[in-house]
Amino acid sequence: MKKQTKAIRTQTKKTQYREHSTPMFLTSSFTFDSAEQGKALFEETEDGNIYSRFSNPSVQEFVDKVCMLEDCEDGVATATGMAAVFASMAALLKSGDHIVACRALFGSAHQVITQILSKWGITYTYLDADASAEEWEAAVLPNTRMIYLETPSNPGLDLVDLEMIGRICKKHNLIFNVDNCFASPALQNPVDFGADLVVHSATKYMDGQGRVLGGVVVGKKEYIKELRFFCRQTGPSMSPFNAWVLSKSLETLTLRMEKHASNALELAKALDTHPDVKMVKYPFLLSHPQHELAKKQMRAGGAIVTIDLQGGFERVSAFMAALEIASLSSNLGDTRTIVTNPYTTTHAKLKPDEKLALGITEGLIRISVGLEDVEDLIQDFTNAVEVSVKSAILE
Ligand SMILES: *Cc1c(COP(=O)(O)O)cnc(C)c1O
Repeated sequence: MKKQTKAIRTQTKKTQYREHSTPMFLTSSFTFDSAEQGKALFEETEDGNIYSRFSNPSVQEFVDKVCMLEDCEDGVATATGMAAVFASMAALLKSGDHIVACRALFGSAHQVITQILSKWGITYTYLDADASAEEWEAAVLPNTRMIYLETPSNPGLDLVDLEMIGRICKKHNLIFNVDNCFASPALQNPVDFGADLVVHSATKYMDGQGRVLGGVVVGKKEYIKELRFFCRQTGPSMSPFNAWVLSKSLETLTLRMEKHASNALELAKALDTHPDVKMVKYPFLLSHPQHELAKKQMRAGGAIVTIDLQGGFERVSAFMAALEIASLSSNLGDTRTIVTNPYTTTHAKLKPDEKLALGITEGLIRISVGLEDVEDLIQDFTNAVEVSVKSAILE
């Protein structure tokens, strides 16, 4: 069976009621049939649920499905994507270790590396997404233990060559940890290129409908074992309710991502030829500087398109006011199209030169392309681009 079929057919064992859809296991704890069973479960001579901070059937079903979609042996689910990112580092790094990371990171991942891990004596080196193999290798120190990156990045849509980094990690015996949130397992599988761990914010495409928070780390058994211990003791567990929602959502992930990506490509093409849009970036547009790499490691370009509107915040404001369909929000990965101005919201905390290094200009708009009819989206965006040009000229 193909992995998509297996993921859809994966289900918690049926109860005596013969239900078709899995029930939700909203229970904090589980009972022991006897004192002996309680003892055996704690001694780990018997497998089974004890307490939902450690494990829960709804959560396990979600993890099993992600493992299938990412071709991974094992995994741990967490309350949010950031809990997954943090656990993937904190469980495996110790004081004195060094981490090499791509500069283009989700804002909170950047804060974890620079403000939190650094307090515990874990140092880091940042590289640009398009750094060469020699530059990546030169950043590896004797105490380097992990390379961490996102591809495509948020919001720059820069790509890192997964195969190249996989080779470097293997050569230097490093843990290769990839945040695969933007592509989702439907469009890219980092383990195909040597990743040891794959991290996701399930809040985004895995839910895909803007309802619940969640995170997951999947990968090599030896690392997941340490992560499981870390999560069991420190408690960033996923709620069974959220797991139930997310598990059902995974059954439509591939279908949704295909439509998200085709809508995104069509919208990107329409805006790319528009004279009033300064720049359009999308991995599967020929004009993307890493288009060839995108084709090599992704099955489609994803659902995020960025455009640069000349004219600063006033133009941005007029553009947003003119949109009739797209929502204004800082989130992404929803059935409903969302626009964000990273400069003033998600990345507002970065210093001006840090913003510049990531390509975050004042007029940058991140579009999380949804599942609406693409003709309506093209109409909405074209209209807002034109209206905002006129108002910018009038002022
Ligand atoms: C949203 C996001 C996260 C954090 O996920 P939360 O569920 O919000 O904690 C991490 N990485 C990327 C790339 C994201 O987009």
